[in-house]
Parts: sequence; structure tokens; C-alpha cells
Amino acid sequence: MQLEQIQNFEGKYPKQVWHLFLTEMWERFSFYGMRGMLTVFMVKELFFNDQEANLKYGAIQAFVYAFTFVGGLFADKILGFKKSLFWGGALMIVGSFILAVSPHEFFFIGISVTVIGTGFFKPNISTMVGALYKDNDDRRDAGFGLFYTGINVGALLGGFLCVWVGKSYSWNLAFSLAGFVMIIGLITFYFTKKHLGPIGDSPLKELSSKKRKTRELLVFAGSLICIPLILIMIKNTAYTDMFMYIIGPATIIYLVYEMTKLTKIEVYRLLAALFFIFFSIVFWAFFEQSGGSLSLFALNNLHGTVLHIPIDPNVLNNTANSVFVIAFSALIGLLWIWLAKRKSEPNTMIKFGFGFLFLALAFYIFYATRFFADENGVTSLDIFTVAYLVITLGELCLSPIGLSIMTKLAPKHLWGVMMGMWFLASAYGQYAAGILGAGMANPDENATNTEKLISYTNGYYQLAIYALIAGVVVIALSPLIKKLMGGVK
Ligand code: GLN
Repeated sequence: MQLEQIQNFEGKYPKQVWHLFLTEMWERFSFYGMRGMLTVFMVKELFFNDQEANLKYGAIQAFVYAFTFVGGLFADKILGFKKSLFWGGALMIVGSFILAVSPHEFFFIGISVTVIGTGFFKPNISTMVGALYKDNDDRRDAGFGLFYTGINVGALLGGFLCVWVGKSYSWNLAFSLAGFVMIIGLITFYFTKKHLGPIGDSPLKELSSKKRKTRELLVFAGSLICIPLILIMIKNTAYTDMFMYIIGPATIIYLVYEMTKLTKIEVYRLLAALFFIFFSIVFWAFFEQSGGSLSLFALNNLHGTVLHIPIDPNVLNNTANSVFVIAFSALIGLLWIWLAKRKSEPNTMIKFGFGFLFLALAFYIFYATRFFADENGVTSLDIFTVAYLVITLGELCLSPIGLSIMTKLAPKHLWGVMMGMWFLASAYGQYAAGILGAGMANPDENATNTEKLISYTNGYYQLAIYALIAGVVVIALSPLIKKLMGGVK
């Protein structure tokens, strides 16, 4: 199939988006299944204390997203997106089965293999979605919106099933479930990849096959060598701090080097992309309270019913976001298409700005839960759920749009790198989220529930203010960034 044919599709979505949707759905099942098990497993089975488990969790999450930069870079330069995806998926399968064999003995080895695998998989599948569209196709954001639904169907199923199987039956089984599901993901990609035509093929087609193979083998070997290094860094979280200090500036230096080879317009566009990346760090640092402080808030300060239906507040905290993404993502995608037809679709900056305004409102609602607390410091899960709805609307204005804009602003040979940088911002967001969450927690170990409620909600109030400021700044700067974007919307 030719690229022209793919990009000239009729209707709202190209059919390949559905194939990538399914592949990514299974990968996210495996990823969020694993993510959901990490802290519980470390505390219950490896007997880590809460603080240690949280720090290790933060380190693992930060590494997962940080390696997407490396995966994106090597996909651009050597492997191509398709091969990267197979290599990453294969490593994720191996990592899951290492964990399945003996999670207690091989926990950190299995996780390290999975980290590298995700790095090669995650940015490159998102980039292929972007490649299905011509430069000025208005339907691109909607396509990413749909793809984002796939992410969350997988996240919901995996986050729920793996943790449930692990806690109630067997951890070995739960980790192998993550591995099996990833096999389904790769099989799905194998049988549908022919419809992608040249998208994701090797960037080194002009080299002789021997030279190309040697380079590919070097990448494979290099990534295997990284596994023990990651192992060491995860085991010692001080090294994680060091890694985080180095990787960000290093990627910026690399990007500046790439910029020297580009035209002025291309450089301006990359600067605009960096602006989005910077603000996304702030967004994720607040948003990712969900895995940290909000889950502790759910543990201590919430009633166990929504609309009179009993539900564990932690289960709600883990699943509400995905459920709301599934419910609203396609709708918002169609809203963008509808507005585009009427020539009144807001540009990416304004959508980003709205993302922050929703974020601010959501944290204001998290703060406002304190006004509904009883004398034991326990408050309404209904209101907490409304805050999740609002935060998800914010996410939908920013996260799928961010994926989309990376593929619009970067020249083709830097797509993988820029997608990697987008996810690297998530790595920093995760890292900062832990620090913010720790700062909000009441330091007194014997604090009452009411005292805990007060200190967390004070923190949420602060976050609401900062998110509001960020939203106003983004919207105010939109004319300037629009200029840098040079015609890209
Ligand atoms: N929930 C989305 C995903 O898993 C976005 C995650 C992120 O970028 N932090 O892809």
C-alpha cells in the first residue's frame, strides 16, 4: 500500500488507527497491569516500607518514560518504528515472564527488562498514528483521541485484572497475564502491519543490507547492556536523581545540535514543541497525584459509596480516570472535527490552556471536599469522583493533542525523538509528582484523619492556584507561540 493511498482515506478515521488502537490497548493492559502491581507487591511481598516502595515506584515510572527518548531516537535513526515496536514488545514479554517465573527472586531484573521494552514500544506506536495523516489534515487530533481511548481501555482492564489476580490468586499468574496479553498485542501488530505500507520502515534503506543489519544488531546489543545499568539505578534511588538531572539537559543539547542542521522555520517549530513539552511537565506533576497523594487520600479520607453504590475508594481512584477517558475521548474528538468544519476549532495552545483550567477546577474540587467532611475527617466520594471527571476533561485537552502536535511540529526524521521528549516530560512529571505529594503529606505519623484531610486539601488548593496561573500564561502566550508554529495549527 502506498503512503498516498493511506493518507487519502475517506471518513473520520483511517482504518489503520483501529489496528494501532488494538495493539496499543494490549500493550497498555500489560503496562498498567504491571504498574498497578508494583507498590502492592513491594509492600506485601518484598516487605518494603511505604516510603521505600513509593520512591522505587517513582524511580521505575520515571525510567519507563525516560527511556522512550532513547527508543524514539534509535527508531528514527536505525530501526524504524515497526522494528522498534517488535523489539520493545519482545522485551516486555520477556520481562513479564521473568517476573512470572519467580517475582520475589527476579523482581528488579524483570522490571528493568520491561523498562527498556516500553522505551522502544511506546513512543513509536504513537508516532505511527501521526504518520497516517497528511500535514494539514484536520482529522489528526480526532485520530489521536480515538487512539487515546484504546490506551485507556487497556489501562482499565489491565489495572483491574492484574491487581485482582495478583492479590487474590497468584502473583506469578498476574505477571504472566501481562506477558500473554503483550503477545496478543504483537500478534495483532504482526497481522495488521501490512496496511501501514511504508510507514515505520527502516530509515536506512539506502544502505546495503549487511551494513543495516550490523547497525540494528548494535542497537539490540546496546539496549541489552542497559538492562543491568537500569537495575543498579532502580535499586539505588539516589542514582535515579542523578539520572534525572542529566538526561533532560542532555536531550536538550542533542536537540540543539539537530537544530543546527535545520531551516529557521523548522527550528521555530521545534521551539514551539519545547514550549508544549515544558508545560506538559507541569501538567503531569499535578495530574500524577492520582497514583500518589490522591491514593493515600482515598485510603483515609473518603466514604465508600458513589451515588449510594458501594465501591472501594482506592478502586475508584484507580479506575475513574480511564472510565471517563473512554466515555468522553471520542466525543471530544468529534467536537474538534465539528468545530473544524465550522472553522472555529480552537488552536492547540488554547486547547492546552483549557487543559490547565480544567486541572485548576479539578484541584479546587479536591480541595472543596473538605467542606463535606464529617467529624472523623471522612468526606464525599461523589464529589471526589466529580473532580476526576473534570481532571479527565483537562487531560483530554492536553495529552492526545500533545501527541498529535509533536508529529505536526517536528520534521519527519525527528518524529521519534520528539515523541520521546514528549514522554520524557511525563518522566519528569512523575518525578516531580512524588516530590509534591511528599511535601503535602502531614509529617506527623500519628496525625488524625482530619489533620491529614487538612494538609492534603491545603496542598490541592495550592495546586489549583498554580494550574490556574499556568492556564492563563499559556493562553496569554498563544499569539507568540502561534507565530513560532509557522502555520501549524
Ligand atoms: N495515560 C497515557 C498513556 O498511558 C498518558 C501517560 C503519560 O504521558 N503520562 O499513554
